[in-house]
Amino acid sequence: MRAIQILEYGGPEVLRPADLPSPRPGPAEIAVAVDAVGVNYIDTYFRTGAYPRPLPFVPGVEGAGRVTEVGAEVQGFAVGDRVAWASGTDTYAQHAVVPAAVAVHVPSGVDDAVAASALLQGMTAHYLITSTYPARRGDSVLMHAGAGGVGLLLTQMAAARGIRVITTVSTDEKAELSRAAGAAHVLRYGPDLPEQVRDLTDGAGVDAVYDGVGLSTFDQSLCCVRMRGTVALFGAASGAVPPFDPQRLNEAGSVFLTRPTLAHYVSGRAELDWRAGAVFAAIADGDLDVRVAARYALDDAVRAHTDLEARRTTGSIVLLPG
Ligand code: NDP
Repeated sequence: MRAIQILEYGGPEVLRPADLPSPRPGPAEIAVAVDAVGVNYIDTYFRTGAYPRPLPFVPGVEGAGRVTEVGAEVQGFAVGDRVAWASGTDTYAQHAVVPAAVAVHVPSGVDDAVAASALLQGMTAHYLITSTYPARRGDSVLMHAGAGGVGLLLTQMAAARGIRVITTVSTDEKAELSRAAGAAHVLRYGPDLPEQVRDLTDGAGVDAVYDGVGLSTFDQSLCCVRMRGTVALFGAASGAVPPFDPQRLNEAGSVFLTRPTLAHYVSGRAELDWRAGAVFAAIADGDLDVRVAARYALDDAVRAHTDLEARRTTGSIVLLPG
């Protein structure tokens, strides 16, 4: 099969097309012919070695496709089923094996590219808004990278709940997309961001900041949140936040800081079914628009990562194994 392989950590150029044997499923796994691969920021952390994996490896954690073989112990999946998953491994490939425990059925009406890129970013948006800081109608929240994959989905979910969303973006085009997703105020990154956020919240600051950008935004996130508000630092697109003195949380106003990750919010089958079901149902009902803004051939993974890291992408992006 065709796949992308990483032989050494590094920049996008280490994503090398290769011909590899198709994997066979273990007893608790399903084999899938991959129709589309979700490309996520976390893939770049594995590629650079920021999140180390033994070399060589096939990158990718998310995808959608059709079941071709079912392990002996697997229940609930059959050959031919359309499935998607957000916490697999080795998905930049024409064939993948997926633990049945992390696979979900794809409802008809949800196309392959959407199915392959909705779950990781969609369930992340879902857990941030329902569980990490369960925002309520009338709350004001700040989200960085408002036109990104998670950003567009989080904005739509929050706006639908009657939450006032303030976002940051880097370009006019992204500002337009963020507004269309439901952001009430779209701001630019910069030193006066905390002042602008305070102006929009009668001086108080927002109830929560959802920060997936990290290094370049974190200090400002602490200045934008209200007393006893929550900062959910859920990513590091601009780099990792260095260790810091907890006393800063006191000075920021007894602020709650959390560094959540999806795996801890889909901690079993029931929670996975709840979050995946909510995301797919919202898509099928037309309440959630997953914007698949770029599709690349599998062999073009280098370009996909280059564009993602250069901030040229919006919404979700996928690889098509063909
Ligand atoms: P995005 O589509 O949001 O892409 C990242 C965006 O971050 C860019 O488009 C850019 O938007 C913004 N950005 C700001 N500064 C930089 C920089 N220096 N370099 C690159 N990008 C920058 O990616 P995803 O939706 O896939 O992921 C968003 C974040 O969420 C990532 O940090 C990711 O790791 C995290 N994440 C965390 C999860 C968790 O459970 N903890 C799960 C899923 C994602 P702009 O140009 O507008 O600033």
